Amino acid sequence: MSSKRTVSIFGVTGSVGTSACDVILNAPGRFEVQTVTAGRNVEKLAQAARTLSAKQAVIADEALLEPLKSKLAGTGIEAMGGRQALIEAAAQPADILLAAIVGFEGLRPILSALENGVNVAIANKEPLVAAGHLVKEAAKKGGAKLIPVDSEHNAIFQVLEQHNRSAVEKVILTASGGPFLNWTYEQMAKATPEQAVAHPNWSMGPKISVDSATMMNKALEIIEAAVLFDLKPEQIEVLIHPQSVVHSLVAYKDGSQLAQLGESDMRVPIAHALAWPDRLEKGGRTLDLASVSTLSFSRPDFDKFPALVYADECLKRGAAACIALNAANETAVQAFLERRIGFMDILGAVSHALADERCNPAAKTPKTVEEIEKLDQTVRALTEEYIAARQTHGQHRKAVSPS
Ligand code: MG
Repeated sequence: MSSKRTVSIFGVTGSVGTSACDVILNAPGRFEVQTVTAGRNVEKLAQAARTLSAKQAVIADEALLEPLKSKLAGTGIEAMGGRQALIEAAAQPADILLAAIVGFEGLRPILSALENGVNVAIANKEPLVAAGHLVKEAAKKGGAKLIPVDSEHNAIFQVLEQHNRSAVEKVILTASGGPFLNWTYEQMAKATPEQAVAHPNWSMGPKISVDSATMMNKALEIIEAAVLFDLKPEQIEVLIHPQSVVHSLVAYKDGSQLAQLGESDMRVPIAHALAWPDRLEKGGRTLDLASVSTLSFSRPDFDKFPALVYADECLKRGAAACIALNAANETAVQAFLERRIGFMDILGAVSHALADERCNPAAKTPKTVEEIEKLDQTVRALTEEYIAARQTHGQHRKAVSPS
């Protein structure tokens, strides 16, 4: 990178956002921070804005704008609040915007950035799952690039030969298998939020950690890969790889398979995406394969982890099913973290939503943002009904608080 790159971080207080701060601080003189945003965590947002010398900080919850202003008083950092401010901030000129908001609500800022020609380093997978065609259309319209940050997709991006796209046979997404890889179904049915968020390799936020435990994370990643790399469902394979060293592979028709390897440290794909097509100096350790010693691979157990089957089905059924899969899952994961339902009820809720006639191939395919948001809301409501029916009444236990 010859000159300083201007970067905005949307979702700076989450796990990916925090790692991105590390990457930027570890590369002095390489980046200039335009905007940092958060949902509700004013304290951490103000701290990130100060540490990174950002020009602007936006809090999504407008009610928290005053506390943000007072925390940034005298710094010269502009404070803004509300969802509209988030969308406007995303449209401002920057070389790259890191989309690290959790969930479907990251969609509008991503569209806003892309339509205005801002390249997006995308860690926020839910908008790709629920509105992949809109995200790609926005990128095309604005002449902007989408650079994958999710470790698997970043790995594929690194080894996918753009000039040889027709020579690609398939991609192989690796999966750690999550904390319940070797648990029985009966054990999983009794799993608590604390057990579900304790991932063996990766340190992540609560939503994606629960998704890893159900393997819904891999299911979302299958759809994410289909969107990002224009792949057919049969071109995407999942292999269990508990060491999380090989982050994914591309298999070419000539028999070669290319992989990207690294420590299970999100700073590696974040640094790659922010600096691409250049590379930065690493902040963490060098992967030492001799100390890893063994790399193992196996096929997933589709009976224990039906989310993988749902992903395949949704890709074949189309947009409405993908929206339903994501909306039902986001709603059910939140209910599980709040101890309103059991672990296996998450998959029950998703299966219930997918059976709804509004999510069937015969239903009208939602195309615009409004239509997609409407179906998303419908599925959230029907999932809440399912949850209410599953709930054990009279239990008031403490929820696992979001990061
Ligand atoms: Mg991933």
